[in-house]
Amino acid sequence: MNLEQEWSALTKKTYGKEIADCSKEELYYSLLNLTKDYIGETAPIKGRKKVYYFSAEFLIGKLMSNNLINLGLYDEVHDLLASKGISLAEIEEVEPEPSLGNGGLGRLAACFLDSIASLGLPGDGIGLNYHFGLFKQVFTDKHQDAQKNEWIEAQSWLNKTDTTFQIEFGDCTVTSRLYDIDVVGYQNGVNKLHLFDIETVDESMVKDGIRFNKEEIAKNLTLFLYPDDSDEAGNLLRIYQQYFMVSSGARLIIAEMKENGYDLHRMYDYAVIQINDTHPTMVIPELIRILLMEEDFTLSEAIAVVSRTCAYTNHTILAEALEKWPVKYLQKVVPQLVPIIKELDRRVAAKYNDERVHIIDKENRVHMAHIDIHYGFSVNGVAAIHTDILKDTELNHFYRIYPEKFNNKTNGITFRRWLLSCNRELASLITEAIGEGYKKNAAELEKLLAFADDEAFLGRLEAVKKQKKTALAAYIAEKEGVDINPDSIFDIQVKRLHEYKRQQMNALYIIHKYLEIKAGKKPARPLTFIFGAKAAPAYVIAQDIIHLLLVMQEIVAKDPEVSPYMKVVMVENYNVSYAERLIPACDISEQISLASKEASGTGNMKFMLNGAVTLGTSDGANVEIHELVGDDNIYIFGENSEQVIAHYAKGDYVPMDYYEKNPDIKKAVDFLVSKEALDAGSRESLERLYNELLNKDWFMTLLDLEDYIKTKDRMFADYEDRDSWRRMMLVNIAKAGFFSSDRTIAEYDRDIWKLK
Ligand SMILES: *Cc1c(COP(=O)(O)O)cnc(C)c1O
Repeated sequence: MNLEQEWSALTKKTYGKEIADCSKEELYYSLLNLTKDYIGETAPIKGRKKVYYFSAEFLIGKLMSNNLINLGLYDEVHDLLASKGISLAEIEEVEPEPSLGNGGLGRLAACFLDSIASLGLPGDGIGLNYHFGLFKQVFTDKHQDAQKNEWIEAQSWLNKTDTTFQIEFGDCTVTSRLYDIDVVGYQNGVNKLHLFDIETVDESMVKDGIRFNKEEIAKNLTLFLYPDDSDEAGNLLRIYQQYFMVSSGARLIIAEMKENGYDLHRMYDYAVIQINDTHPTMVIPELIRILLMEEDFTLSEAIAVVSRTCAYTNHTILAEALEKWPVKYLQKVVPQLVPIIKELDRRVAAKYNDERVHIIDKENRVHMAHIDIHYGFSVNGVAAIHTDILKDTELNHFYRIYPEKFNNKTNGITFRRWLLSCNRELASLITEAIGEGYKKNAAELEKLLAFADDEAFLGRLEAVKKQKKTALAAYIAEKEGVDINPDSIFDIQVKRLHEYKRQQMNALYIIHKYLEIKAGKKPARPLTFIFGAKAAPAYVIAQDIIHLLLVMQEIVAKDPEVSPYMKVVMVENYNVSYAERLIPACDISEQISLASKEASGTGNMKFMLNGAVTLGTSDGANVEIHELVGDDNIYIFGENSEQVIAHYAKGDYVPMDYYEKNPDIKKAVDFLVSKEALDAGSRESLERLYNELLNKDWFMTLLDLEDYIKTKDRMFADYEDRDSWRRMMLVNIAKAGFFSSDRTIAEYDRDIWKLK
């Protein structure tokens, strides 16, 4: 039977209908089951050694398109439906998006799984099956509200397995059950994303928004992606989640080793555990404990074997994100690990006098990253500048002890999702020009440089961008009720809301532009500023920044003098599916973090690949984008990381100086507490933000504002030179090949995992 016959047999059997007569839902669920059958017939990826990618987050997004592309079925399904007047894109709308991650870190893990399978490497993800994942964002009265995101349905990509484990905590025991999602490689075999869940989870305990009793662990453990950690109960729940994940994962690895008849004393020949940030760190003491207590290892043997198996990825130098758990919390949740961790600390302290490298500090807190560095065999940063900062500054005292462990793996993105699936128009234009080779070998995108002076090609590139802008405008009109002009410049900043990412600096630019237009200085072409961002529910200033953006959206929209020339729109519930619509439509990619703070960023790579030009600081992977495209094809502004690090060291950044020195900055900041702003927004929120900016401003918003305004205005002016802009778009796409996660994963394998 061919695909059409199989599908139609399925719709007849399930719904008693022909394909053409099915509803969107019926088409989606029958296609889901059909695709799962095809995956079932695809060979699992096998090999002697396997990587286990441990991560608290896997922001996988919807899976239908990607699975069809990777199975080589997309065009067939698309054309079959089109022949019946049905749109595949509309059918995919039925699929709920699993929100198993916050942002970049979780999305990276998802891209990595795609690339591991696409390179034919044996590798599974280990994570948790959060029932409501990250919250769903809605705006009420210009403020963020958090609601639960229900994504698990009776029929889904999730497969229940028979594998269960008993996981013991200090005060209770829970049953862990394994659920699997198949990860299909591009023209390759299948790996697994293993998601563990408690059997006794109780969804009904979630009341009004995302509130629930944080203490009933046997019912709440897998309800949400580590929720609010602003209080003790929230922190304890995080530790319960982390131990549940790593203990289940450790049990699974040992079970697989035994099933294959492997010698646990040579675990490192068959398994490598990649620890994605510090959340899964407890896998180290947990594996040591199991080998010691259940497998007749001596303590030194267990430590040696585990240390040769585990590798750690550092994702941040923000102090508040490097986890430090009080010993007393661990004593309550996982008392069985405390003696192991104390012994690990004792061994370190016996060797090194320097307290900065000890695991347990004077305040009796356990520094999780220190466990990873001492008892793992590899420590990697996620972009060149980030790894340099780790070596030279943040982790320098560790680097001096273990220079051989440190290595860089610049992040990447899967081109299957971020080009082939989200921008089919661009992908087919590229294919027409340079052939299919770039789909397997992204470096071949450089062949596009041959078209840098080809007017006809550049015109078609511009037409694709226009098409994606028009499609986004229609979507935003429908979802947000806001009309935007596809002939305006689309300037987009979408990413988690955090002060270091400086959405507030962009907001001050918008205020500045608004005041300029009011004063009669009109831009050459209308400007559209698009934002999307969720803020952690307990992060007050981040909520205030969202509020400011929504206030500006309203003020600009209601002002007939200004609204023909600019628009602001903050889209609700920014997620992977929204990103897939926004990124192909972008002209200007905002990557404006305070230098030294964004470890890598991956949004910057997605935008570049889709022909946006970056407006950014010398931070994270922007530095590598800059090196690749050269000065002429990127707009870099602001102080660099050495200068910023020096400001922190000297404590010499005083926001008031910048405010008083520059009248434009003063006017923009003062606008926050002007009558106009206060009439539209909340006084409490706007005054708090105003005071924060003038008196504290830890992430130095005002430091780069003047240069930001100048550079952005220059960029808008340059946009009018359409020939040179189109050329910049082309160069960005052509140079994006380096940022394929296939390249990143090949490097992980070559330097760390050594699977082949
Ligand atoms: C890529 C991505 C991110 C990461 O964006 P950055 O700009 O690198 O912070 C966050 N959220 C979603 C939904 C993404 O797709």
